Amino acid sequence: MRILVTGGAGFIGSEFVRATLRGELPGAAGTRVTVLDKLTYSGNRANLDPVAGLPGYRFVEGDTCDPATVEEAVAGQDAIVHFAAESHVDRSIDSARQFVTTNVLGTQILLEAASRHGVGRFVHVSTDEVYGSIDHGSWTEDAPLSPNVPYAATKAGSDLLALAWHRTRGLDVVVTRCTNNYGHYQFPEKVIPLFVTNLLDGGRVPLYGDGGNRRDWLHVSDHCRAIQLVLRSGRGGEVYHIGGGTELTNEELTRRLLAACGADWSRVDHVQDRQGHDRRYSLDITKIRDELGYEPRVRFEDGLAATVAWYRANRPWWEPLKAKAGLAEVRV
Ligand code: NAD
Repeated sequence: MRILVTGGAGFIGSEFVRATLRGELPGAAGTRVTVLDKLTYSGNRANLDPVAGLPGYRFVEGDTCDPATVEEAVAGQDAIVHFAAESHVDRSIDSARQFVTTNVLGTQILLEAASRHGVGRFVHVSTDEVYGSIDHGSWTEDAPLSPNVPYAATKAGSDLLALAWHRTRGLDVVVTRCTNNYGHYQFPEKVIPLFVTNLLDGGRVPLYGDGGNRRDWLHVSDHCRAIQLVLRSGRGGEVYHIGGGTELTNEELTRRLLAACGADWSRVDHVQDRQGHDRRYSLDITKIRDELGYEPRVRFEDGLAATVAWYRANRPWWEPLKAKAGLAEVRV
């Protein structure tokens, strides 16, 4: 099987590519992978170094918004797994233009090319944030979309476009929506790597609002295994939820990160809440469990300990990224 992985140099995409080429995902042995990635601030070719020498790997540096590049990359592929996106909520609140361009237009250009080339399957990777916020209970896949921040609005737009391609062009599209991912190789602007690297540097951590916002945490390896199940066996035209089963308030998460890094609450700065900050996300994962046999495997305690250990051991990976992005933390 030949697959095109967009955004394969980012956090989740690179895990998917490494796990695919190492044959760690069910039924992935022998898969040939082309990565298409623009290498934005969050894309890092070094994330793929561990598999760059393996047979079946090809890297194309390019933009999903460039039809000629996409045309060349899509030709001859059996499937596309589409991760490429602008992914950081705070950046989308500051400036949404690139989010609209990459997340919506980039997806449309890929869908066009996939239809033209008769690609067999298109997995569109999306997020629980498209539903907005839920105080109690969990969303099922038919819940109405009600995004509150520009990032989520552009992801909702791209989800709907992808599903429309299934209905109008018969493209074999499947949409996945997952909860908050964590793990190794995550760009250090997101909460877990930001807090861990600040703490490892003896610095402080910024906690939004009252710390009561709740998220479900999913280890990146569980997410990638679920995507592989959907790629192989999901039903065309369907949406599948992927969750991790560990719901925590941001305050609870912060306490665990402080403990894992040997720090205490005196390192926490309460900062003004994010505009439009969703209070709670929660996905019902019954469908993927019943249809495809998915269960998260990584216990949060184990995954978090491994993640902290990875950032502790890989300063040469994250120090230059933080410095370049202006994220270097003031020390206490
Ligand atoms: P990331 O920011 O780490 O990686 C995004 C990758 O896409 C980078 O390698 C970047 O260079 C590439 N890219 C961006 N614009 C591009 C373009 N125009 N053309 C080609 N490549 C481009 O993001 P991530 O956390 O790995 O997220 C991957 C996908 O998963 C996204 O679609 C995101 O919406 C979704 N998602 C992420 C999470 C999470 O917790 N991280 C949760 C739910 C869904």
